[in-house]
Amino acid sequence: MADSVNYDLAIIGGGLAGLTLAIQCAQAGDRVVLFEKKQYPFHKVCGEYISNESKPFLERLGLSVTELNLPSISTLQVSSVNGQRYTFPLPKGGFGISRYELDHRLYQLALQKGVVVYTGTKVQDVQFQNDQFVISTPLGEFVSRLAVGSYGKRSNLDSKWNRSFLQRNGNASTNYIGVKYHIKFPHPEPVIALHNFPDGYCGISRIEDGKSCLCYLTTAANLNKHQNDIGQMERESLCCNPYLKELFSNAQFLYKQPLVIAQVSFQPKTQVENHMLMVGDSAGLITPLCGNGMSMAMHSGLIAFQHVQAFLRSQSTRQQMEQRYARQWQRSFSTRLMTGRIVQRFTGSGRSTDLFLNTMNQFPALAQAVIRSTSSNFF
Ligand SMILES: Cc1cc2nc3c(=O)[nH]c(=O)nc-3n(C[C@H](O)[C@H](O)[C@H](O)COP(=O)(O)OP(=O)(O)OC[C@H]3O[C@@H](n4cnc5c(N)ncnc54)[C@H](O)[C@@H]3O)c2cc1C
Repeated sequence: MADSVNYDLAIIGGGLAGLTLAIQCAQAGDRVVLFEKKQYPFHKVCGEYISNESKPFLERLGLSVTELNLPSISTLQVSSVNGQRYTFPLPKGGFGISRYELDHRLYQLALQKGVVVYTGTKVQDVQFQNDQFVISTPLGEFVSRLAVGSYGKRSNLDSKWNRSFLQRNGNASTNYIGVKYHIKFPHPEPVIALHNFPDGYCGISRIEDGKSCLCYLTTAANLNKHQNDIGQMERESLCCNPYLKELFSNAQFLYKQPLVIAQVSFQPKTQVENHMLMVGDSAGLITPLCGNGMSMAMHSGLIAFQHVQAFLRSQSTRQQMEQRYARQWQRSFSTRLMTGRIVQRFTGSGRSTDLFLNTMNQFPALAQAVIRSTSSNFF
């Protein structure tokens, strides 16, 4: 064994779901080990707009979001491919912070609370044997009573276990790529803009230090159409939208190369796999246009926390814990995910995007209902 401690909980993946779950369990007195394959701080493809529904939760964990004085966002502006612009108030609003900053702060908080964190450590396998988990890493094996998968959208472990969502993966038009930059551009602080372009949409909103995050999602087919050249796709596809043309022409780009992820899938997933509870994107990924994946990731960590505590305190069996977690996850998120998938169908195309945006514009109560249906009051 790499470590002679028998942990109560091993967490695989140190993004928002894994880190917030680790902090809660350590606060409750559990022995927690967390593995993260990268070294903090690091950048991630994400729009970096966090719905305010998460703010009280983060504050309760010990991260004083208010003191960080972050840009506050209250308005959604959506433009169609040809540049027709619509404005909608965001009922709850949100704030902007880079993942570089947020994940690093949560990592430091986890260490303070006593979580044992192995960074730069990619978990290679997890086996459930004799009612405990054996976690294989390049550092050796670790043992714990419980294991939670919080390793994000897609990982080596998904392929190893041949998870069902991988078998349902479609073609290049249902596989997405995400691209992110940090830029300097006079983007108005209270606004998150979502600009449609053929086969995709691009979000822009303010984060810390006067920077903005520019992040877009498009299909792998769109990239193929442009000789797999990101720059060419940006010039020929994104710049069809006049707002994006202005942005790409005038903004100061702060990275030499964009951050890119491929094979993003919105297929439904299972919430328990090999007796591991799955949290965050490992359990299901909401389409980014809903701007709520981060809150969902933390929210699923909170639900997992409650069921993990019941198991560790002998108030439920392993089987009850797994069933109750999966049921609560479905009740909390399945409608949101479905709404996100439906709304995404109306993006990135000419006529149906225009029709959708016009309808939302003419019926503000409907627009508010759609926006509300992708968030919750759970926290
Ligand atoms: C293009 C795009 C834009 C988005 N924009 C927004 C937005 O503006 N607002 C919002 O709320 N949500 C947004 N989201 C969604 C949001 O980014 C995710 O829902 C959120 O990051 C999920 O957090 P997580 O903790 O589940 O996963 P992650 O944050 O992805 O963390 C998973 C971690 O696991 C690690 N890992 C993976 N495999 C292993 C392994 N084998 N061993 C050890 N570590 C491992 C990874 O390095 C990673 O750090 C967006 C998503 C996309 C694709």
